[in-house]
Amino acid sequence: MGQEILILGAGYGGMMTACGLQRREIPFTLVNEQPYHQFTTLMHEVAGGRAHTEDYRMELQAIIDPDLGRLHVGKVTAIDLKERRVRVDDMFLEYDWLVVALGSETEFFGIPGLQNHSLQLWGFESALAIRQRVERLVKEATRDHPARLVIGGGGLTGVELTGELADWIPRLCEKNGVPLDAVKLMLIEAMNTILPMLDSDLQRQAMHILQEKGVQIRTGTKVVEVRSEQILIDGRAPLDYSLLIWTGGVRGNHLLAESDFPVDRKGRVPVDQMFRPAGMTRVFVIGDCAAFPGPDGRPLPPTAQLATQMGEHAAQIIDRLLHGRPPVAFRPRLRGTLASLGPENGIGELGTWKLTGAAARFLKEANKARYLWSIGGWKALSRKRGQIRWA
Ligand code: NAD
Repeated sequence: MGQEILILGAGYGGMMTACGLQRREIPFTLVNEQPYHQFTTLMHEVAGGRAHTEDYRMELQAIIDPDLGRLHVGKVTAIDLKERRVRVDDMFLEYDWLVVALGSETEFFGIPGLQNHSLQLWGFESALAIRQRVERLVKEATRDHPARLVIGGGGLTGVELTGELADWIPRLCEKNGVPLDAVKLMLIEAMNTILPMLDSDLQRQAMHILQEKGVQIRTGTKVVEVRSEQILIDGRAPLDYSLLIWTGGVRGNHLLAESDFPVDRKGRVPVDQMFRPAGMTRVFVIGDCAAFPGPDGRPLPPTAQLATQMGEHAAQIIDRLLHGRPPVAFRPRLRGTLASLGPENGIGELGTWKLTGAAARFLKEANKARYLWSIGGWKALSRKRGQIRWA
């Protein structure tokens, strides 16, 4: 065939495209900044000290068959759509077919001081940084100088991280001989509820479970500025903090707009049912980079569930096109939402089912196993089984 297929990004979307092409014995090149695939949706577990950190990333070499996939470890710095080439560090890679799966990045909404004064839960390294900072702050905390840990943003990322820290902090306090009341954990959210995407019953239950674990939850609390030790809140008194972890939202990778892709207000590229941006036939944008229309015409939210399905489908589209067959439109299977609330608890919706407690947690663990199987079968499952906790 002699066609160069270039996949940018080895997150959930890019990884599944690579695995799909590999299964179909179609050669490709995969570019990623790190030599590993990170389990991004589980980074709250890394930050919250749940298991061995190495269980949460997997070397790309262990997944990609060198006879089919060429790995290129480096940072994509520009996409030249006219010349059909991509700059990776100091060199250019040419393509005939391009799959853009570069993921999203933290949204700071232009809030003064926020980026400089906060940590973000963004990938393996940042999760490790949070873990280390929390450990240090708890160790140094006293009743006179308590550690004030604030999570900013009560969406799924903020809630899962809060649940994890709420379970870990008492163990850390005990280990370091620190009184539990020397560490304050607070979740703040601009809207009147946390987890606005879930039904109101589940929102209340999630709040209750977190509060039972000692978390202070403040809704209607919109961050407007961050200074070195204070968070300024719209219409309310400022909050003192020792560590602010910002989980207030995401937007498409900045490279998209910089590379002249048309983007929406969240920096994502509007695509058709075959992941093609307007006017492009050999470029596919998938995962968090894509604004893919849902049933009501509005873009679907950027989730790993969707990125994974898009990646599988992108491989099928490319296969069909290479063999002169028309591509088939993507039909997302939206199964629902599951969130962990610490290692022992969870909450979520699957279709019309509402789940809480052990059932939600069990399904979340089962999802991990299913995903590991899909990228590397038994080998991936046995190597990374440490991230799964059945009981
Ligand atoms: P999000 O946008 O879903 O939530 C961010 C929250 O921060 C919102 O509730 C918002 O009101 C709040 N916020 C924004 N600005 C604020 C301000 N100035 N002050 C206080 N609060 C503010 O972002 P997310 O939680 O990072 O999730 C991103 C995407 O990833 C979503 O599509 C989500 O569904 C997905 N995700 C899914 C899972 C899962 O399925 N378990 C886990 C994590 C993330």
